[in-house]
Amino acid sequence: MTVTETVVRTCPLCEATCGLEIQVTDGEVTRIRGDRDDVFSKGFICPKGTTLGHFHSDPDRLRTPMLKVEGEHVPVSWEEAYAYISDNLRPAAEHSAAYLGNPVVHSIDAGLFSRTVLTALGTRTVFSASTVDQRPREIASGLIYGMSVTIPVPDVDRTDVLFMLGANPYVSNGSLATAPDWPGRIDALKARGGTFIVADPVETRTAQEADVHLAVRPVSDALLLAAMATEIVARGHARPDPADEDTLMAVVDALTPFTAESVAEQVGVSAHDIEDVVDRLGASPSPCVYGRLGTTVTPFGTTASWLIDIVNALLGALDTPGGAMFSRPVSGSKNTRGQDPVGSAQSLGRRSTAVSGMPIELGEHPVSALAEEIEAGNVTALVTIAGNPVLSCPDSDRLDEALEKLDVMVSVDCYINETTRHADVILPSPSHVQKSHYDLAFANLSVRNVANYSPPVLPLDDDGLAEWEVLARMAAVLGGGTADRAGAEFVESLVYGQIADAAAASPHAPEGLTREVVDEAVNHAPGPDRILDVMLRSGPHGDWFGLGDGISLDSLIAEPHGIDFGPLEPRIPGLLSTPSGRPEFAHPDLMADIPRLAAALGDERSGKLQLVNRRTLRSNNSWMHNVNVLVKGRNRCTVQMNPADAGGLGLDDGSMAEVTSDAGAIRLPVEVSEAIRVGVVSIPHGWGHDRPGTKMRIARDNAGANVNVLTPSWSVDPLSGTSQLTGIDVTIRPV
Ligand code: SF4
Repeated sequence: MTVTETVVRTCPLCEATCGLEIQVTDGEVTRIRGDRDDVFSKGFICPKGTTLGHFHSDPDRLRTPMLKVEGEHVPVSWEEAYAYISDNLRPAAEHSAAYLGNPVVHSIDAGLFSRTVLTALGTRTVFSASTVDQRPREIASGLIYGMSVTIPVPDVDRTDVLFMLGANPYVSNGSLATAPDWPGRIDALKARGGTFIVADPVETRTAQEADVHLAVRPVSDALLLAAMATEIVARGHARPDPADEDTLMAVVDALTPFTAESVAEQVGVSAHDIEDVVDRLGASPSPCVYGRLGTTVTPFGTTASWLIDIVNALLGALDTPGGAMFSRPVSGSKNTRGQDPVGSAQSLGRRSTAVSGMPIELGEHPVSALAEEIEAGNVTALVTIAGNPVLSCPDSDRLDEALEKLDVMVSVDCYINETTRHADVILPSPSHVQKSHYDLAFANLSVRNVANYSPPVLPLDDDGLAEWEVLARMAAVLGGGTADRAGAEFVESLVYGQIADAAAASPHAPEGLTREVVDEAVNHAPGPDRILDVMLRSGPHGDWFGLGDGISLDSLIAEPHGIDFGPLEPRIPGLLSTPSGRPEFAHPDLMADIPRLAAALGDERSGKLQLVNRRTLRSNNSWMHNVNVLVKGRNRCTVQMNPADAGGLGLDDGSMAEVTSDAGAIRLPVEVSEAIRVGVVSIPHGWGHDRPGTKMRIARDNAGANVNVLTPSWSVDPLSGTSQLTGIDVTIRPV
């Protein structure tokens, strides 16, 4: 007899955190659609969200550990895989490093247990996907607010003028700003009489919806924002919090060289257009400026992130409804724990990488330094967890070659992909629908305070391990313990114990809360769920383990469509951890970068075409290219060019071109488009699935070309070490 049931869960694929309604028939996912009752997404879904079943049943998805034997990956038992790790990785720990991919933050298992592997390995050489594109924003937040997790997000549901730079949420569904259904939210903004303004070199899908589109030159955001700051004051729009006025005016004084007139040539729009945007924001009771990837993957990424906050603060739009605000995660966060707002001063430059002296900030090396550290012999052993840096990191041909030089490499991943093909051992993690889910990371970035827990939809594969157990067993064996369930539970108990002790010692804890009370109240089995229960119960809305009124994991389980805790509320000064007790808007490390920015006013352009990155709706980094329904149809891995540029080079729509930068060259088809500015070309990232040894058949059949062959690892934002991924000088010729 056919058994069909319908369950709901949160989509784990991107930051939008949409609710899904999943139909399961006889143990197979047979349909996915949006969950109309989800408190946050209200039925919204994108094409990727419907494919979790395809991903789960993909025959290329790894279900057993793989060991490389004479150059070929062969299936082995868990015991054999962990024995290899014990015999080979453990002795190499002294020169080991780790790379954590973007999916780590989309998984509660990996989010809580990846660090146990690093701790057991004893490595301080950690790279992550955060250093590819978002570290500048985190560093700016650390300097200004005292914590890198304190990132302002646009209060998109209440703003009436939204100015967006370098973001394309209509296709990428938001980044460092968690909100399902950006199109619907921007429609609502316009329906209530608001104005939507976009700055982007390309008339992206998002820019097409804008009331005003500034087709700026790539890498000009920091100049534009600096000029906006001075123009806000000069044009009488400044209304900062009085407590911050002197500090902000000191910043504006230092920005004197930047005016609408002085930056117009470099930004590529008229002074009048810049003044018009400033006036629209200044006339609004609730303006908001939001910048994303296009602002952070430039040589001025950290400075641009800082200047976004300066502009918002000058407009009186920081930490106010309708402006740029701060989430209050229901499961708690470093900035919800009631710390003293007076913290120690943050500063940059305390550590740097061995080879080229790139900054090591927030405990991580910039990924732009990974290849050179391997080449120099400083890293001889590498662990990768849910990452594919060979496709997603700059100068990727060089990294690809460097990985071959490692003595030992261990990966945790679902596929034999362009990166894991180098691994000696690959430990498989289960599919998305085989894991429980809670968005620990994105609750810090949410435009509304919501909480939504999803239990696993399907059981583990035969002989499969939960992702947390894969990682915990690895940590156990690296720490000299046993690679079995007992070893995993020992590692889990350490994580649980730390979080339970912190809860019992919290300044918010009610009288009578002890570790014993915590242990007695928490009744979930060892693993991420019982740790989450502690976090929820000691969070801003928690029940304090039965001593107060509030939520627990059980109350979230009882509400499968989630619980809405309402719109964001002002949080300054409570969330700060700064020496002054106020935002450090004039932090010396940020002010010190102003002369470098001023020097850019005189930069001469090379006359070459400038390459920018492109997002597409059916793609998410390199993750989804083995799902046929997402990659079938027309080739989306093209180089988009303005007709004037294409025609000048003798290129037509569909003709093949070779694109060359200082880092490398790739070949791919041309797509002629009026939507792109003259002098600018765009290529999507995450493609290039034609390397030997991979085992992703659909991706291989739709290989595309890897744009990161073209991105140089040596051109970086000096404050963060983040590589320049946009505005790359390239030449193009027909082939
Ligand atoms: S927008 Fe993101 S979270 Fe929503 S369905 Fe698509 S991939 Fe999933």
